[in-house]
Amino acid sequence: MNRYDAIVVGAGHNGLTTAFYLAKAGLKILVLERRNIAGGCAVTEEIDSVNAPGCRVSTASYMASMLRPEVIRDMALGRHGLKMIAADPALQIALPEGEVLPWWGDDIRTHTELSRFSRKDADTFFKLDGDLKSLARYLQPFFLEPPPDTEATGLSGLLEVIRVGRRFRGLNGRKIADLTTFLTGSLEQFLDRYFESEEVKRLILANNLYGKHGGPRDAGSAMGLLFHLLSGGEDGKQGFSGHVIGGMGAITRAMAAACTAAGVEIRTGAEVERIESVNGKAAGVTLSGGDHIEAGLIVSNADPKRTFLRLVDPDQLDTDFRRQVRAIHMDGPAAKVNLVLDDEPRVDGMPPDAPALQKMLFTLVPTFEQAQRCYNAAQNGLLDPELWVDCVWASAIDPQLATEGRHVLTTFVQYLPYQPAEGSWDEHRDWLGDRVIEIIGRYAPNVPAAVVGRDVITPLDLERRFGITEGNIFHGDIRLDQLFFMRPLPGWAHYRTPIEGLYLCGAGTHPGGGVTGAPGYNAAHQILRDR
Ligand SMILES: Cc1cc2nc3c(=O)[nH]c(=O)nc-3n(C[C@H](O)[C@H](O)[C@H](O)COP(=O)(O)OP(=O)(O)OC[C@H]3O[C@@H](n4cnc5c(N)ncnc54)[C@H](O)[C@@H]3O)c2cc1C
Repeated sequence: MNRYDAIVVGAGHNGLTTAFYLAKAGLKILVLERRNIAGGCAVTEEIDSVNAPGCRVSTASYMASMLRPEVIRDMALGRHGLKMIAADPALQIALPEGEVLPWWGDDIRTHTELSRFSRKDADTFFKLDGDLKSLARYLQPFFLEPPPDTEATGLSGLLEVIRVGRRFRGLNGRKIADLTTFLTGSLEQFLDRYFESEEVKRLILANNLYGKHGGPRDAGSAMGLLFHLLSGGEDGKQGFSGHVIGGMGAITRAMAAACTAAGVEIRTGAEVERIESVNGKAAGVTLSGGDHIEAGLIVSNADPKRTFLRLVDPDQLDTDFRRQVRAIHMDGPAAKVNLVLDDEPRVDGMPPDAPALQKMLFTLVPTFEQAQRCYNAAQNGLLDPELWVDCVWASAIDPQLATEGRHVLTTFVQYLPYQPAEGSWDEHRDWLGDRVIEIIGRYAPNVPAAVVGRDVITPLDLERRFGITEGNIFHGDIRLDQLFFMRPLPGWAHYRTPIEGLYLCGAGTHPGGGVTGAPGYNAAHQILRDR
């Protein structure tokens, strides 16, 4: 009874994706999830059961942007209840002067908005957007492919060179220079080259450094520009960003339903304490209650640090490997503050007759200077009071998330240290909640008095609740030295691990974090090829 072809540790969206493809290939799969709910960082949960029962929101990830169309189609997520509405505007910043600046799906409307600040910038904006999209198209195919195998030699090494070379056919000298700038340059320096208006630059800033480790003046911070132009959603539209009806949990509920229909068994409330191996080969898992389950194939959806430093017996890995894992950059830098309101948020400058799709989205983005200062403070364990707060009033288009007369507002906050220099997050939790509400109140003055319930999820709470080491939302920073054939570690980018039969499938592997399904898809296909 206790024997499966494969065990997937963790029911995050990548674990579910891997489980689905393996089951479709005929394997008997068991998914074990430590929480009482499947979905990992893509879940919809109650915010404050004491003060506002029945009001739910996407407690962690909150926008669907790069979910792969292939995964949506193969898992028939639409048939299993997934409904996404394209965000329009895709982005909108609220400015301290009591104005809002939206980035519409319609180019002419966006041009008009940007022209309020600079006609020249409005023209440049679209030329640049086109150039960036064309550059992003070179990277796109690598999303659902393993990264180059740098260890391959002989004929397979040659085939790898040809595979990668073909992808970059047509990349001329200027484009190579552009690509290098994006991957290595700072966002501020890049934008200074093209734009004169602070507001236009801040609109672009607002979309490009979420959850990333680095301030806008740091080398490598321009990279986000390309990532956000990768495609996603049902139609694989470049730069797609969507609101999910029912919250992000609707994605993983649909995935779990697809898995169940494919014969996968999913157990929640089942924490894996140890991944067992014998003579360097995966043999099964032991649950925290002591149960042992055998399988020769184990796929871990947990992040690399959790997998190798906590779940695998230290004797089974060599010390150099463990040292490299420990050195993966992860800490922080984000939190969530989820609020229940008894009034709708009224942002200064928002047209009163604006559609719900516009009213629901507003980013309170700092200046470049402040963003960098906040990042630097966080690096030193300090809590900068001027935070960057991204707000989504989710019940505006999805009233079922809230009870009668209530509204749910989810906010993503950065930059914060994982480990405060003084005190602990348990002591600073209320400070964070109060701070975020105060900042929102500067732009939407009615909000502070309208708060009737809240759930403040500090970086430490992200780790405790969602099982993500050091609260890192991407299972490892998105930075050049931790991407592509270096994710999670050089030499281990093909989802395999030093233990035969143990694979990784989560966001800590190529191509990285976000609700994309890509690591899960790639891991499953690598496993099937290896078999
Ligand atoms: C606050 C926050 C905001 C974000 N916002 C966005 C956003 O708006 N859009 C976007 O695209 N991405 C966003 N992200 C990133 C995105 O959610 C993640 O990168 C992605 O969900 C990771 O998916 P995963 O399946 O690889 O891992 P996870 O979702 O982390 O799932 C891993 C699962 O493994 C389980 N697990 C771990 N250890 C064990 C064990 N020992 N036994 C059993 N189970 C175990 C965990 O409980 C978890 O369920 C956000 C993330 C966070 C935290």
